[in-house]
Amino acid sequence: MNKRALRSPEELAEADLIEPARIEALGAVAARYAVAITSHVRGLIGGGDTNDPIARQFVPNEAELEPASFETTDPIGDERHSPIEGIVHRYRDRLLLKLTRVCAVYCRFCFRRETVGRGESQMLSANALDAALSYIAAHPEIWEVIMTGGDPFVLSPRRLGDVTTRLSAIEHVKVLRWHTRVPIVDPGRITARLVRTVATRRRAVYVAIHVNHPRELSPDARRACARLIDAGIPLLSQSVLLRGVNDDPDTLESLMRALVETRIKPYYLHHADLAQGTAQFRTTIAEGQTLMRELRARASGLCQPGYVLDIPGGHAKANLVPSDLDGEPGSYRVRDSKDCWHSYPPQ
Ligand code: SF4
Repeated sequence: MNKRALRSPEELAEADLIEPARIEALGAVAARYAVAITSHVRGLIGGGDTNDPIARQFVPNEAELEPASFETTDPIGDERHSPIEGIVHRYRDRLLLKLTRVCAVYCRFCFRRETVGRGESQMLSANALDAALSYIAAHPEIWEVIMTGGDPFVLSPRRLGDVTTRLSAIEHVKVLRWHTRVPIVDPGRITARLVRTVATRRRAVYVAIHVNHPRELSPDARRACARLIDAGIPLLSQSVLLRGVNDDPDTLESLMRALVETRIKPYYLHHADLAQGTAQFRTTIAEGQTLMRELRARASGLCQPGYVLDIPGGHAKANLVPSDLDGEPGSYRVRDSKDCWHSYPPQ
């Protein structure tokens, strides 16, 4: 495990991540949205350049206190789909189990920034966990449980093991999926003990890691991912399309190739959500679609994530990958990866 994370503008200035003249203004940002930069992430950031793609994701910015009119505090509608504390039940066959509101780092574009790292009680209490597990047990349609938060991998192996054992005992729950940024931002936490506790053979276990830039796949991060994969856990990736971080074809291609080389299947590229104060990170959907077409022209099918948007209000996901099908049954046109259209069936 790494040394203590940087958590205040004063500490960021001492670490040469911000100019001392910005301490006061960023104090107001830190009072509203949590700040944490692990020493591992500090080591990935180039010296003091605020445009560095790693720094941009974690170093607070004054623009975070300037919300756009259409940005909201609950951009993907978690609250309206939460029947009890710790559960978000948006889809019939799966739900989110939020074990904690703590993360190892706090991303400046986070879609749950109003809740993570804030408030008094940041862990799901023992009683609330009992109630959440009872809810899951009482809903036989729940096939998959997705542990998220916050970041569940900040919890102790003992707690992770307890949740794994109790979920595995529910007959209709067949898949356990952990969502985490820890292997990337604090890889020392992925110990042999943690891996053993989540790698149950009783259920299919998946880990989805959040990673946005190829430099985040450091040698230590790759070793942490390999420990999970070698224990039999398939790894998936989730990335957010972020202006100034990965919104160019070369970076996106490098990221997806690096993931596949690390045995991680690119799963989703998320269009950035309408969280308050995050406009500086958002691309247009048209830009995202152009990038996806470029990625498809350049790289293997293994390197292609789904490009998706969580519809504001919690109305599930919209697929933003541009369609390669046009026309009517019997006279379709289909598009190849070089953007050329062909008749189907051939005329
Ligand atoms: S790790 Fe995930 S939940 Fe935590 S701050 Fe980053 S995006 Fe938000």
